[in-house]
Amino acid sequence: MKKITIAIDGFSSTGKSTLAKQLANHLGYVYVDTGAMYRAITLFAMQKEYIGSDFFDKEKLISSLSSIQLQFKFNPDLGFAEMFLNNVNVEKEIRTIEVSSFVSKVAEISEVRTKLVEQQKEMGKNKGIVMDGRDIGTVVFPEAELKIFMTASATTRAKRRYDELVQKGDNVSFEEVLKNVEERDYIDTHRDNSPLIRAEDAIEIDNSDLSREEQFNIVLGLANKITDIN
Ligand code: C5P
Repeated sequence: MKKITIAIDGFSSTGKSTLAKQLANHLGYVYVDTGAMYRAITLFAMQKEYIGSDFFDKEKLISSLSSIQLQFKFNPDLGFAEMFLNNVNVEKEIRTIEVSSFVSKVAEISEVRTKLVEQQKEMGKNKGIVMDGRDIGTVVFPEAELKIFMTASATTRAKRRYDELVQKGDNVSFEEVLKNVEERDYIDTHRDNSPLIRAEDAIEIDNSDLSREEQFNIVLGLANKITDIN
Protein backbone atom coordinates (compact mmCIF):
# COMPACT_ATOMS: atom_id res chain seq x y z
CA MET A 1 0.00 0.00 0.00
CA LYS A 2 1.22 3.51 -0.77
CA LYS A 3 2.77 5.22 2.25
CA ILE A 4 1.86 8.77 3.14
CA THR A 5 3.15 11.53 5.41
CA ILE A 6 1.03 12.43 8.43
CA ALA A 7 1.70 15.82 10.07
CA ILE A 8 0.21 16.46 13.52
CA ASP A 9 0.48 19.97 14.91
CA GLY A 10 -1.15 21.73 17.80
CA PHE A 11 -0.85 23.31 21.21
CA SER A 12 1.11 21.81 24.12
CA SER A 13 -0.39 18.78 25.82
CA THR A 14 -3.15 18.18 23.29
CA GLY A 15 -2.16 14.51 23.15
CA LYS A 16 -0.38 14.81 19.80
CA SER A 17 2.26 12.27 20.71
CA THR A 18 -0.25 9.72 22.02
CA LEU A 19 -2.20 9.91 18.79
CA ALA A 20 0.94 9.91 16.63
CA LYS A 21 2.33 6.81 18.39
CA GLN A 22 -0.98 4.95 18.03
CA LEU A 23 -1.14 5.76 14.31
CA ALA A 24 2.49 4.87 13.66
CA ASN A 25 2.16 1.53 15.48
CA HIS A 26 -1.05 0.67 13.66
CA LEU A 27 0.19 1.65 10.20
CA GLY A 28 3.76 0.38 10.64
CA TYR A 29 5.09 3.92 10.14
CA VAL A 30 8.00 5.73 11.79
CA TYR A 31 7.02 8.12 14.59
CA VAL A 32 9.00 11.30 15.21
CA ASP A 33 8.37 13.56 18.21
CA THR A 34 9.96 16.84 17.15
CA GLY A 35 9.28 18.41 20.57
CA ALA A 36 11.86 15.94 21.95
CA MET A 37 14.47 17.47 19.64
CA TYR A 38 13.79 21.03 20.86
CA ARG A 39 13.75 19.73 24.42
CA ALA A 40 17.12 17.97 24.01
CA ILE A 41 18.74 21.18 22.73
CA THR A 42 17.23 22.99 25.73
CA LEU A 43 18.67 20.38 28.09
CA PHE A 44 22.09 20.86 26.46
CA ALA A 45 21.81 24.65 27.01
CA MET A 46 20.86 24.04 30.66
CA GLN A 47 23.76 21.62 31.22
CA LYS A 48 26.24 24.14 29.75
CA GLU A 49 24.60 26.91 31.80
CA TYR A 50 23.74 28.94 28.72
CA ILE A 51 20.16 29.26 29.96
CA GLY A 52 18.69 29.72 33.44
CA SER A 53 15.79 31.48 35.13
CA ASP A 54 17.28 34.97 34.60
CA PHE A 55 19.81 34.57 31.78
CA PHE A 56 20.11 33.19 28.26
CA ASP A 57 23.33 33.37 26.24
CA LYS A 58 21.85 32.72 22.81
CA GLU A 59 25.14 33.36 20.98
CA LYS A 60 26.95 30.61 22.93
CA LEU A 61 24.16 28.18 22.18
CA ILE A 62 24.17 29.09 18.47
CA SER A 63 27.93 28.61 18.20
CA SER A 64 27.70 25.20 19.94
CA LEU A 65 24.95 23.86 17.69
CA SER A 66 27.37 21.93 15.46
CA SER A 67 28.55 19.94 18.51
CA ILE A 68 25.03 18.73 19.33
CA GLN A 69 24.15 15.34 17.99
CA LEU A 70 20.58 14.14 18.30
CA GLN A 71 19.40 10.62 17.64
CA PHE A 72 16.21 8.65 18.12
CA LYS A 73 16.79 5.01 19.11
CA PHE A 74 13.84 2.62 19.10
CA ASN A 75 13.20 0.91 22.44
CA PRO A 76 11.18 -2.27 21.76
CA ASP A 77 10.10 -2.52 25.42
CA LEU A 78 8.52 0.93 25.32
CA GLY A 79 7.34 0.68 21.72
CA PHE A 80 8.78 4.06 20.72
CA ALA A 81 12.11 5.74 20.02
CA GLU A 82 13.96 7.47 22.85
CA MET A 83 15.94 10.67 22.49
CA PHE A 84 19.74 10.52 22.73
CA LEU A 85 21.77 13.71 23.17
CA ASN A 86 25.41 13.20 22.22
CA ASN A 87 24.94 9.44 22.73
CA VAL A 88 23.32 9.74 26.17
CA ASN A 89 19.71 8.65 26.71
CA VAL A 90 17.92 11.81 27.90
CA GLU A 91 14.34 10.66 27.36
CA LYS A 92 13.38 11.18 31.02
CA GLU A 93 15.36 14.39 31.63
CA ILE A 94 13.80 16.24 28.71
CA ARG A 95 10.27 15.82 30.12
CA THR A 96 10.75 17.81 33.35
CA ILE A 97 8.93 21.08 34.10
CA GLU A 98 12.32 22.91 34.08
CA VAL A 99 12.96 21.91 30.47
CA SER A 100 9.34 22.81 29.62
CA SER A 101 9.82 26.25 31.12
CA PHE A 102 12.80 27.09 28.85
CA VAL A 103 12.07 25.16 25.67
CA SER A 104 9.92 27.76 23.88
CA LYS A 105 12.70 30.35 24.26
CA VAL A 106 15.17 27.95 22.66
CA ALA A 107 12.68 27.06 19.92
CA GLU A 108 12.41 30.74 18.93
CA ILE A 109 16.01 30.79 17.68
CA SER A 110 16.17 30.62 13.87
CA GLU A 111 19.47 28.73 13.81
CA VAL A 112 18.01 26.05 16.08
CA ARG A 113 14.92 25.70 13.88
CA THR A 114 16.96 25.53 10.67
CA LYS A 115 19.11 22.71 12.04
CA LEU A 116 16.16 20.68 13.31
CA VAL A 117 13.88 21.23 10.31
CA GLU A 118 16.66 19.97 8.01
CA GLN A 119 17.00 16.76 10.07
CA GLN A 120 13.21 16.32 10.18
CA LYS A 121 12.86 16.65 6.39
CA GLU A 122 15.58 14.02 5.95
CA MET A 123 13.81 11.59 8.32
CA GLY A 124 10.60 11.87 6.31
CA LYS A 125 11.98 11.75 2.80
CA ASN A 126 10.72 8.18 2.19
CA LYS A 127 7.23 8.88 3.63
CA GLY A 128 5.57 6.33 5.93
CA ILE A 129 6.05 8.76 8.81
CA VAL A 130 3.91 10.36 11.51
CA MET A 131 5.58 13.50 12.83
CA ASP A 132 4.22 15.74 15.56
CA GLY A 133 5.17 19.30 16.51
CA ARG A 134 4.17 22.89 15.84
CA ASP A 135 5.31 23.54 12.25
CA ILE A 136 5.12 20.12 10.62
CA GLY A 137 2.22 20.82 8.25
CA THR A 138 3.35 24.38 7.54
CA VAL A 139 7.16 24.21 7.28
CA VAL A 140 8.59 20.69 7.54
CA PHE A 141 6.13 18.82 5.29
CA PRO A 142 3.87 21.36 3.56
CA GLU A 143 3.10 18.58 1.03
CA ALA A 144 1.93 16.07 3.68
CA GLU A 145 -1.10 14.10 2.49
CA LEU A 146 -2.77 14.30 5.90
CA LYS A 147 -2.48 17.26 8.28
CA ILE A 148 -4.13 17.33 11.68
CA PHE A 149 -4.31 20.38 13.96
CA MET A 150 -5.14 19.48 17.55
CA THR A 151 -6.65 21.77 20.15
CA ALA A 152 -8.24 21.57 23.59
CA SER A 153 -8.84 24.18 26.28
CA ALA A 154 -5.77 25.30 28.28
CA THR A 155 -7.32 23.98 31.52
CA THR A 156 -7.98 20.55 30.02
CA ARG A 157 -4.43 20.39 28.71
CA ALA A 158 -2.86 21.55 31.97
CA LYS A 159 -4.89 18.96 33.89
CA ARG A 160 -3.58 16.20 31.62
CA ARG A 161 0.02 17.38 31.93
CA TYR A 162 -0.33 17.83 35.70
CA ASP A 163 -1.64 14.27 36.15
CA GLU A 164 1.24 12.94 34.04
CA LEU A 165 3.89 14.80 36.05
CA VAL A 166 2.38 13.83 39.41
CA GLN A 167 2.24 10.20 38.30
CA LYS A 168 5.96 10.40 37.50
CA GLY A 169 6.59 11.70 41.02
CA ASP A 170 7.27 15.37 40.08
CA ASN A 171 6.46 17.85 42.81
CA VAL A 172 4.49 20.49 40.86
CA SER A 173 1.34 22.51 41.44
CA PHE A 174 -1.55 22.68 38.98
CA GLU A 175 -1.17 26.49 38.79
CA GLU A 176 2.50 26.12 37.80
CA VAL A 177 1.61 23.67 35.03
CA LEU A 178 -1.26 25.85 33.76
CA LYS A 179 1.01 28.90 33.71
CA ASN A 180 3.62 26.95 31.74
CA VAL A 181 1.03 25.73 29.20
CA GLU A 182 -0.29 29.30 28.70
CA GLU A 183 3.20 30.79 28.41
CA ARG A 184 4.26 28.22 25.83
CA ASP A 185 1.01 28.80 23.86
CA TYR A 186 1.81 32.50 23.78
CA ILE A 187 5.46 32.18 22.72
CA ASP A 188 4.73 29.37 20.22
CA THR A 189 1.98 31.37 18.48
CA HIS A 190 3.77 34.76 18.52
CA ARG A 191 7.32 33.96 17.44
CA ASP A 192 8.57 35.37 14.11
CA ASN A 193 10.02 32.13 12.80
CA SER A 194 7.46 29.39 12.05
CA PRO A 195 4.81 30.33 14.61
CA LEU A 196 2.24 27.72 15.52
CA ILE A 197 -0.62 28.20 13.09
CA ARG A 198 -3.07 25.83 11.52
CA ALA A 199 -2.09 24.99 7.96
CA GLU A 200 -4.93 25.97 5.63
CA ASP A 201 -5.45 22.35 4.58
CA ALA A 202 -5.20 20.89 8.11
CA ILE A 203 -8.18 19.21 9.75
CA GLU A 204 -8.82 20.66 13.19
CA ILE A 205 -9.70 18.30 16.03
CA ASP A 206 -10.73 19.64 19.43
CA ASN A 207 -10.27 16.66 21.71
CA SER A 208 -11.48 18.24 24.97
CA ASP A 209 -14.38 15.78 24.98
CA LEU A 210 -12.97 12.91 22.93
CA SER A 211 -11.51 9.71 24.32
CA ARG A 212 -8.16 8.54 22.97
CA GLU A 213 -9.91 5.75 21.12
CA GLU A 214 -12.49 8.05 19.50
CA GLN A 215 -9.76 10.42 18.39
CA PHE A 216 -7.63 7.58 17.02
CA ASN A 217 -10.55 6.14 15.04
CA ILE A 218 -11.38 9.52 13.48
CA VAL A 219 -7.82 10.11 12.30
CA LEU A 220 -7.23 6.52 11.21
CA GLY A 221 -10.40 6.81 9.11
CA LEU A 222 -9.00 9.92 7.44
CA ALA A 223 -5.64 8.23 6.77
CA ASN A 224 -7.31 5.13 5.32
CA LYS A 225 -9.44 7.26 3.00
CA ILE A 226 -6.31 8.91 1.60
CA THR A 227 -4.37 5.67 1.13
CA ASP A 228 -7.43 4.04 -0.52
CA ILE A 229 -7.66 6.86 -3.06
CA ASN A 230 -3.93 6.79 -3.86
O1 C5P B 1 5.63 18.93 21.85
P1 C5P B 1 6.33 19.44 23.09
O2 C5P B 1 5.41 20.04 24.09
O3 C5P B 1 7.24 18.42 23.69
O4 C5P B 1 7.27 20.61 22.52
C1 C5P B 1 8.06 21.38 23.40
C2 C5P B 1 8.25 22.76 22.82
O5 C5P B 1 9.11 22.70 21.69
C3 C5P B 1 7.01 23.51 22.35
O6 C5P B 1 6.36 24.23 23.38
C4 C5P B 1 7.58 24.44 21.29
O7 C5P B 1 8.09 25.60 21.92
C5 C5P B 1 8.76 23.67 20.74
N1 C5P B 1 8.48 23.01 19.46
C6 C5P B 1 8.55 23.78 18.31
N2 C5P B 1 8.39 23.19 17.09
C7 C5P B 1 8.15 21.87 16.99
C8 C5P B 1 8.04 21.09 18.16
C9 C5P B 1 8.20 21.69 19.38
O8 C5P B 1 8.76 24.99 18.38
N3 C5P B 1 8.01 21.32 15.77
